[in-house]
Amino acid sequence: MFATITAAQIKAGRRALLDGWGPRPNVLMVKAKGARMWDSNDKEYIACESQAFALSIGALHPMVVEAVREQAGRISHTAYGWDNIPMLLLSQKLAKLAPGNLNKVNYCLEGSLAVEGAMKLAIKNSPGKRYFVTMDHGYHGRTFLTMSASWKHPHSTAYIPFIENVIKVPEAYCYRCAFNLDCASCNLFCVKYLDDTLKNRVPGGAVAVLMEVVQGNGGQISFMKNYHKKIREVCTKNKVLLIYDEVQTGFGRTGKLFASELYGVVPDIMTFGKAIGGGYPLAGFIASDKLKPFDPGENAFTFSHFPVSMIAALATLEVIEKEKLLERCVKLGEYITSRLMEMQQKYPIIGDIRGPGLAIGIELVKNPVSKEPAVEEANKFLAEGIKNGVIFGVSLYGALGHIVKIKPPMVISDDEVETVLRVFEKCIKSVSKRT
Ligand code: PMP
Repeated sequence: MFATITAAQIKAGRRALLDGWGPRPNVLMVKAKGARMWDSNDKEYIACESQAFALSIGALHPMVVEAVREQAGRISHTAYGWDNIPMLLLSQKLAKLAPGNLNKVNYCLEGSLAVEGAMKLAIKNSPGKRYFVTMDHGYHGRTFLTMSASWKHPHSTAYIPFIENVIKVPEAYCYRCAFNLDCASCNLFCVKYLDDTLKNRVPGGAVAVLMEVVQGNGGQISFMKNYHKKIREVCTKNKVLLIYDEVQTGFGRTGKLFASELYGVVPDIMTFGKAIGGGYPLAGFIASDKLKPFDPGENAFTFSHFPVSMIAALATLEVIEKEKLLERCVKLGEYITSRLMEMQQKYPIIGDIRGPGLAIGIELVKNPVSKEPAVEEANKFLAEGIKNGVIFGVSLYGALGHIVKIKPPMVISDDEVETVLRVFEKCIKSVSKRT
């Protein structure tokens, strides 16, 4: 019914949009399938940012489409006070899949709200405490509370003063250690600093440490293996809850269903979002059954139990299992990373390459010794990629605006991977010339 649009309608629509994101390419996407998208001129793209990492099993997977079609024709909405079949089936399934004693699920439709819900449950379980501790380059969303909890950027500073009960600590960003230490000999000083912070720098004690398992928006920063184990120990010792924000890492992208499994650590609360819905909006958190639950009315939203998204999530989980996408993700991640490492030998603008799985970040630097961030180059790289039919991710609004990302759908084909690598090298060559 509304499948076509005139040039005048596009112009009028864009004029009428109160945009909360920022500059966007002059492209109108009209069709998608698997890892590919097509614009209104029928130009084809490979979506290496999986459309904000929500299309991890690719666009329009037939199993998801079928499940959604059926559900939409049966019952499309029940409000928070009512059960529906997909919600009950999904809750059981997530409780079973989540690690350790994480088996109480709460839902919403956006990752930011999921993180806020997790923070609310942590507050409920930490009487008298008023502060959260988060990481310098962490990202948790764009509501008031989650903006305060995220990296600082000029765009956020107008909102942060409304909720200031967040204390930031440096994460183990070993390529640029905040303490100027060498990771071979630092003995995880950043964890010691976190321990000191929890003991001495949080008035009244911390409600929780909130962090991503692998940082996404802030700069695709992955951590060494025992970092998370040590943080878990420090939290337990200080009687502070640990919240993992898996909105971006959850459901396969790191090669595990949850990134926390990579590190063998079970948090007290774990958020999810993005990929779980197979292209439909769904988010939430899974909490330890040891925590006190919400009282009536404390955390419910009109569309929290949206059955269409819930059924899409059930289908998504089946696709991940049936198509062995976790294994594929590990294999492709290793292959792409090895090819990037070969390119790093040729192009000094490639400063650092970080995994895991298909959560690959490439830090662009003007000079590999000074490590000066190549921010303009990263932006040009992004534009060049789009021109050449590959949409790469870029850490646009973090403090680190010079990290480009390869985070395609896990269903990306071998041929598509080759195209991505060819275009990647072409873009790197073109921005290298300008440095
Ligand atoms: N947490 C993390 C780790 C995220 O990556 C994001 C989104 N990039 C969010 C929370 C916020 O999710 P949403 O945009 O769905 O509110």
